[in-house]
Parts: sequence; structure tokens; C-alpha cells
Amino acid sequence: MNAEIISVGTELILGSTLNTNAHYLSKRLSNIGIDVIYHTAVKDDPKMLEDIIHIGLKRADVLIFTGGLGPTDDDMTKEIVSKVLGLNLRLNVSVENSIKNYFNKTDKIMSSNNKKQAYIPEESKFLTNEIGTAPGIYIKWNEKLLILLPGPPNEMKLMFNKYVVPLIKQDFVIKISTIRTIGISESQLENSLKDIIRNNTNPTIATYAKEGTVDIKIVAKGDNDKEVDSLLNEIVCIIKNRISKYIYSYLDETIEEVVFKKLKDKKMKIAFCESCTGGLISAKFTRISGVSEVFERGIIAYSNNSKIEELNVNKDTLEKFGPVSEQVAIEMAKGLMNKTKSDIAVSTTGLAGPSGGNKTKPIGLVYIGIVTKNMSKVIKCMLNGDRTSIQNKAALKVFNEIRKIL
Ligand code: ATP
Repeated sequence: MNAEIISVGTELILGSTLNTNAHYLSKRLSNIGIDVIYHTAVKDDPKMLEDIIHIGLKRADVLIFTGGLGPTDDDMTKEIVSKVLGLNLRLNVSVENSIKNYFNKTDKIMSSNNKKQAYIPEESKFLTNEIGTAPGIYIKWNEKLLILLPGPPNEMKLMFNKYVVPLIKQDFVIKISTIRTIGISESQLENSLKDIIRNNTNPTIATYAKEGTVDIKIVAKGDNDKEVDSLLNEIVCIIKNRISKYIYSYLDETIEEVVFKKLKDKKMKIAFCESCTGGLISAKFTRISGVSEVFERGIIAYSNNSKIEELNVNKDTLEKFGPVSEQVAIEMAKGLMNKTKSDIAVSTTGLAGPSGGNKTKPIGLVYIGIVTKNMSKVIKCMLNGDRTSIQNKAALKVFNEIRKIL
């Protein structure tokens, strides 16, 4: 199901009001599985608004309007929508009473033109405005859904969350499944799933790249839970069969949360010693509540001296191979393992830049050392981006490598 957001108001076009409503609604609609395909902003002009409604009805399943529901003559959204749909406006006594109540409660005088706000299109539902006078309107018309909301953001948000979302959920069953991947780029992922993405309209499948990870969002709609669940499961299974080694979760969770859960299940402890990531891995890990059950310690061993003192790295190794080397990475992790009572010890050493790189050791070169009771290994990574991005990617890579071992 797709939607167009139509923001009505000359002030939006003139640049005196920022269109935050469209931004907010896009985010919320996408959270409930509705794909927003257009944002349109239009002046308080009856002919222009009429044209936009005709266009919107041709290209979207749901039209959501904000603004133009007030009592003045230039507020005309409801009138023009009713005209285009061929619906009469009828006085609704409940709306009239709620407007009267609003004025009584706020000690304000109700003017005669507020009565205009009590007229709503026939066959529509009104949405109570608890903090203003303009009621919202919910119209199901020829397989289309038109939702009219007031312009003031606080009124719009309250009405959308309290009334519109439950109504949409009651009228349409829409479910979202998210598959989280790591270690594969968005373009590689799209390539692997090209045919499924192209050939499916229900569910729809889309990829969303974040720094170092890519989410696959699958949205299915139907008449009942059973139908929607089976549509979703079928696609999730196909995707799983194709790219299982890159999937780290089917839930709304970070890779470090996945690692935490696995360590907890296995009753294992972990320790980190970080050079180029400067404590980022430990910081990300300790954002998880309850992590003390699995987190033994984190050491930032940035200087050569600290690598020797804290982790017992051999001075000769540092001199011979340099701090950014496979040999130092493994000695750091082994030193940490000997010092602690951990089941897994992990080290990072690398060049996050922007200065300091050379031909043999370029910026982005990072070594990750991992030692457990049964094995030890070093992973060499070449990461791109600026300093922050290299550090973030190195941290993600660490968590992914631990996840794979676990
Ligand atoms: P009212 O009864 O308050 O007149 P209304 O539905 O007629 O409600 P408008 O008159 O169009 O709403 O807008 C009222 C105020 O709401 C605007 O002056 C502006 O501050 C804010 N507003 C309107 N549309 C938007 C928008 N798209 N994004 C952010 N703010 C908006």
C-alpha cells in the first residue's frame, strides 16, 4: 500500500514554515508498512488543490492531507476533497459538540465560522481533535483512503497516533519483517535478490544501507493475519536460503546485542583491548543493559608502551613489525587472555587516518586478533571512509567476527 502526503498551506510554499508534518508522517507511515511515494505541497488555492487531488488519486492508494481544516475562508481542504469525491458536507452534531466543549474548556469565544468545522463529508469518520478545533476526517472511497489532518504539528501527531494508526490497522492487515545483514554491500545484496525484488509487489522488498550493515525490509498486506504471515514467511525463507551467511538477525536489534545474547546463552566472558578503535567497541557493548554478565574488561592500549605494560606485547615484535601488524594484534589478544579470566579476548590495531598511512600500510588497514581457549586468529581488514567511519566499521567487523565464532 502506498501513500502521498499532501501538505496544504501557502506558508509552506513561501518558505515561512518548514514542512515538518511531511517528514514526521513519512517516518511513521513507513514504520507501519505504508510506502510513501510522493510529497506534495500546495498553496491555499482551490483550483491547484483540486488538480493535486485528481493527480494523487491516480497514483497513490492513500492520500494524507495536513492543513487547511481551520475556520477561515482560506481553509478549504475538506471542501475541495468533498467536491472531487462528489460527497456532500453534512453537519455532524458530535463534532459540533466537541468544538463547543473545546471552547467551554479553554474559556475562548466560539465564533460563527467555527461552525463550518462541524461539517464533514457524508460516509466519512471524524477524528476528534483533543487539543484544537479542527476535526480530522477519515474517508474510504472507491478502494482509496483519504485522511485529512490539521496543520499544527502537535494536533496532527496526536490525532495520527491515537486515531489514524488504529483505524488503518483495523481496516488493513499490514506486517513488516526486517532481515539484518552484515558483510555484504547494498549493491551486492540487491544483485543477489534482484529477481525477488522486481517480481514481488506483495510483499514488497527493499534494502536500506546503514554504515557497515544493510537491512532488508519486507512488507506484506492482506485481509487477515494468516494470509499476511504466510506471504511474509515465504519470502523470508527464500531470502534466507540465498544469503544466510550474511544475516545476523531477524529482529530489531544491533549486532552487539546479538553477540551479547550469544555470550549469555553460552555463559561466556569476553574482554577487548583496543588501539585504533580507542574504546569504541567497549563503549558500544556497555550500552547494552546487563552486559556485566558477559563483559570482563576493556583496555585502551594506544601507545606502544601501554601495549607492553598492559598486554605484555614483546618490545621486539613492536620494533620489528610495527604496532599495526598481524603479530602485534595476536600478541595483544594473547596478553589480554593471560591477564583475564575470559573465554574470548579480542584486540584491534590499525590506521584510522587521516595521516600516518604509507604504501605497505595504508589508512584503513586494521588487524583484529581473536583468542579463545581453543584457537587464535588474526583478521586483516581494509576499511574505507574517514577516521570515524573506519573506527565504526572496525567495531562492527569485530562484533561480526565474534558472532561467527559463537
Ligand atoms: P487551524 O485550525 O489551526 O487553522 P489548519 O488545519 O487550518 O488548523 P493551517 O491553518 O493550515 O492548519 O496551519 C496552522 C499552522 O500549523 C501553520 O501556521 C503552521 O504553523 C502549522 N503547519 C501547517 N502545516 C504544516 C506543516 N506541513 N508542517 C509544519 N507545520 C505546519
